[in-house]
Amino acid sequence: MLRTLDFTDADGAYRSRLPRPNFDVEAAVDVVRPIVEGVARHGEQALSEFSQRFDHVVPDQFRVPADALVRAADDLDPQLAEAFTEAIRRRRQVAKALELEPEMPAVTLADGARVGLRNIPVDRVGLYVPGGLAPLASSVIMNVIPAQVAGVRSIAVASPPQRDFGGLPHPNILALCHLLGVDEVYAVGGAQAVAMFAHGVEGLCEPVSLITGPGNIYVVAAKRLVRGLVGIDSEAGPTEIAIVADDTANPAYVAADLISQAEHDPMAASVLITPSVDLADAVQGELATQVAKTRHRDRVTTALTGQQSAIVLVRDIDQAVAVADAYAAEHLEIQTADASAVAARIGNAGAIFVGDFSPVSLGDYSAGSTHVLPTAGCACHSSGLTVRSFVRTVHVIDYSRGALLEVADGVERFALAEDLPGHAAAISVRRR
Ligand code: NAD
Repeated sequence: MLRTLDFTDADGAYRSRLPRPNFDVEAAVDVVRPIVEGVARHGEQALSEFSQRFDHVVPDQFRVPADALVRAADDLDPQLAEAFTEAIRRRRQVAKALELEPEMPAVTLADGARVGLRNIPVDRVGLYVPGGLAPLASSVIMNVIPAQVAGVRSIAVASPPQRDFGGLPHPNILALCHLLGVDEVYAVGGAQAVAMFAHGVEGLCEPVSLITGPGNIYVVAAKRLVRGLVGIDSEAGPTEIAIVADDTANPAYVAADLISQAEHDPMAASVLITPSVDLADAVQGELATQVAKTRHRDRVTTALTGQQSAIVLVRDIDQAVAVADAYAAEHLEIQTADASAVAARIGNAGAIFVGDFSPVSLGDYSAGSTHVLPTAGCACHSSGLTVRSFVRTVHVIDYSRGALLEVADGVERFALAEDLPGHAAAISVRRR
């Protein structure tokens, strides 16, 4: 089912040979540009047009009424509510324990010369929760909790309107917003939601300063388009899983995990990197059996047989680590002997899942980690969504006159060397 790429003779230069999709973000930017411009110019009228075109329903109101949020929470199945509560508890615990920047005291560089750092949360954020192929209620938790722990004042959530639910986002998404105390929720999906957050829509939604959250290729493209006007988190697009596995791995686990992420999107990527031909064969057998039984087998099959998915055969685990680093997967599982030691050698990945019992599905919901992670190789420069994503670190410079005069000669010389005499004058005026 998966095509095989033989890297055993390859030495470096893996990037150009890695399995990647044939439709990229730049191509999608051309598709979403008129959507983003339409919302910026025509506001709600454009939202209606694009909702009809892409979601096949136009909500009565794009802002979800407060009573719909309460009703969704009241109607929640009690066992599902328990699962939500546990996922919230774990994500919040990790966010508070590991992701909050400790406030450090200012550094005194000389008498009267102090430089400090202040962590200031972004004031208003727009959080995207996917809902095209599957209603990703878990993305409410993954977006909202780190924003709240960071201290963001104003939080808005958008998710596509659902025809089956009268044009509201999925009830589980509304219930989680209510449970987490978010009452500004919009039934707006895709690029139009990103445009609404970035530009604002008169009478409906104030613009935000930062947009975060996962989404399909159109959501990612819209985020790329508005970047600069607003901040974005990473390009958290169609899901990828790479698994580094050797002959100690359980082929049934490997296959199940490859399928689990292929289930997200026909554009999702599932990649197995292994030095074991026996494991590769066993995984192919398992895939044939498991895919036949899986509910979303059409999109799983499209994802697994697409050019973005493959089994990459390597010489040994050293080469597997090098190939995994070149790929920079959103999710990287290590299912090898001494998985912790192999995981410790990885330089590029959105999140690393160590050993047989840390599957990506756990991280998607209740591990306590984030599931909003950089895709398409962006893990070599970007991080997943954490409390830090919602905080800016601001230098605070506090020099006395004496401390300024101590470095004044150097600053003036530096400024004149850059042909910026106005800079030098701003120092010399203070000598008088
Ligand atoms: P989505 O909410 O991201 O996208 C649905 C929206 O896409 C629709 O409302 C519509 O406006 C827009 N759209 C659909 N077809 C379009 C077209 N031809 N042109 C313009 N806009 C169009 O939901 P989804 O489609 O189910 O995708 C969810 C995505 O999120 C998946 O790709 C999944 O893999 C990804 N994901 C990523 C991460 C991550 O952190 N990287 C985490 C979870 C999910």
